[in-house]
Amino acid sequence: MRLVMLGAPGAGKGTQADRLAERYGVPHVSTGDLFRAHFRQNTELGQTARRYMQEGHLVPDDVTEAMVWQRLGEADAHRGYILDGFPRTLPQAEHFDAALSAANWRLSGVFHVEVDRAVLQSRLTGRRSCPECKATYHVQFDPPSVADVCDQCGARLVQREDDRPETVAKRLTVYHTETEPLVQYYARQGLLRTIDGNQSMDEVTASLTEQLALIGLAHD
Ligand code: AMP
Repeated sequence: MRLVMLGAPGAGKGTQADRLAERYGVPHVSTGDLFRAHFRQNTELGQTARRYMQEGHLVPDDVTEAMVWQRLGEADAHRGYILDGFPRTLPQAEHFDAALSAANWRLSGVFHVEVDRAVLQSRLTGRRSCPECKATYHVQFDPPSVADVCDQCGARLVQREDDRPETVAKRLTVYHTETEPLVQYYARQGLLRTIDGNQSMDEVTASLTEQLALIGLAHD
């Protein structure tokens, strides 16, 4: 199973990728999470990425591609993976296709999780996450039992630097100009499946599962 989750920031790709990854026993590979892990570990790559991320810009393609390819070469990704946040530009998609063909691999499918812009804005600015166990919440739609405290591990919840309103607007614009063209790109390859991401999380999971069955990837 080699899947790409395509969709705007806040579309719920991460949550859905986590669910599918658990169900199908393949890793959820999120480039945003990989960058954030790098900057927590204070690596050079992390410092570089952070400068772009804080402004809502994309990290340069070559830096991103090298990091992704290295991650996909790890043992747990040999049976497949669910990519979340990559590819995010046409050059990344083309480069990725070339790398896949060279390795004699092909993508099983690309899921485009489509969500209205007003919904995205409020999902992102209300999002909170746990710096310790990575659980995510939403102040309005999925609040923790005690405000600002993680239900799972008790740590104080934080807002991602790039979820502040000014940066969110920039990220949505960057998505529109840089990433949306990938919808057509993968449609032309016959790989694209569109999912209505305005539905509840469980409904989106159900739609994804249905579509996976249609491409022969039903789980046991
Ligand atoms: P995300 O967690 O997917 O919303 O990503 C957070 C930020 O990481 C993005 O706004 C970009 O700055 C950076 N990023 C993540 N994936 C990519 C990518 N494929 N190409 C370039 N930058 C990326």
